Amino acid sequence: MADPGRWVVVGLDNGGTTNNATVLDGDGQFLVDHMVESPSYVKDGPEKAVEALARALDQVLELTGMPRSVVRAVGLDTPGPVSADGVIAAQGATNFANADWCGFDVRGALESRIGLPVLYNNDANAAALYAHHAYFGPVRAEERSSVSVIVGTGLGGGVVESGRVVRGAAGMAGELGHVWVPMDGLLGPGQPVPACNCGLSGDAESVASLTGIEKNLLPHWLARFPDHELARVPVGVAAKLVRGYGEAGDPLALGIFEQQAMAIGRLFTIAANFTDPDVYFLGGGVVEAAPHFRDWFLERVREHTVLREEQAQTEAIALVPDLDMAGARGSAIAASTTVR
Ligand SMILES: [Zn+2]
Repeated sequence: MADPGRWVVVGLDNGGTTNNATVLDGDGQFLVDHMVESPSYVKDGPEKAVEALARALDQVLELTGMPRSVVRAVGLDTPGPVSADGVIAAQGATNFANADWCGFDVRGALESRIGLPVLYNNDANAAALYAHHAYFGPVRAEERSSVSVIVGTGLGGGVVESGRVVRGAAGMAGELGHVWVPMDGLLGPGQPVPACNCGLSGDAESVASLTGIEKNLLPHWLARFPDHELARVPVGVAAKLVRGYGEAGDPLALGIFEQQAMAIGRLFTIAANFTDPDVYFLGGGVVEAAPHFRDWFLERVREHTVLREEQAQTEAIALVPDLDMAGARGSAIAASTTVR
C-alpha cells in the first residue's frame, strides 16, 4: 500500500488526434518518462472527447500503479483559442471544428466527469511552464521569469513570472504570435508584408510558423528561385519539406529560416523591453531538426535578439526540452501548484 501521505497530480495534454498523459508526485518527480498516448476523439465532438480524457486519466494511473484516491488535481491543456477557464472560443477554433465545441466549457465538463479539480492552460502556456520548471528546478523556478516561443503550424507563446503563467484579464496574455514585429530589413525587395490568420499583417506568426512559410515566405522565395525543386510540389506539401532542405544547406530554405530567426529575435527584443525575462525559450520543429541546423538557427535568433549589456550578462536563450511531453508535464506542474 502506498504511503498514506503520498499524493499525485495528473497532466492531460489534449491534441487534435491524441491525448498524452503524465503523473507528477508530491516530491516533484514525474512517474512516467515517455509518452502515454491514446486517441482524443476531438473531431467527434465534446462528449466523446471528454470521455476519452477520462480514459486517458485512468490509463496513466493504471500504468503507474497509482489509485485514484491519491490524485489531488488534474491539469488539462488544449490548443487555443480557449478562455483562461477552459471555454472553447465561441467563434470556434481550428482544432475544434465540430460545431458542438463552440463555447464549450471543456475544463468544467472534465471536472464534473471525473470528480476532481481540473486546472486549465492552453498548450503553449503549459509547454512554457514546463520549460521554465525544467530549466530552473522547483526552487529557483519561483524566483525566475521566462518567455517561450513555440514554432509549429502557428506560433505559440507563454510568459512565466515567478514560476507562474501570466494569464491576463481575458486569458490572452502570452499570445506572442500576434505581436507585431518590425518588417523593415526583414522582408526582401518586393516581398509583400505577410498576413496572419488572425487578421494582422506583419506579426510574428505571419513569418515564424509553418502557415507563414506556406502562405507568405515560400511563394516569395520560389519567385526568386523559379527553378527550385519545391516549385514543382503543391505549396502545402512544399512548406513541410523546407526544413529538410534547410538541413542540407539549400539557399532558398536558409533564406526562409533566416527571416524566421529574425522575426523571433525581434520578438525576443520586444520581450526584453517588456518583461526582461531571465530566459528566452525556443521550441518547435525547427529546433528539433538536425543538431548542426538547430545550432545555426539558434545562433541566428541570438544574433537578432538585441539585449542591453546588463541583460546579455545574465540572460540566456535556450531550447524547450522534451517538447512532445511538455504540454502534459506543464499541465501537471500547474495542477501541483494548486495543491501545495
Ligand atoms: Zn496573428
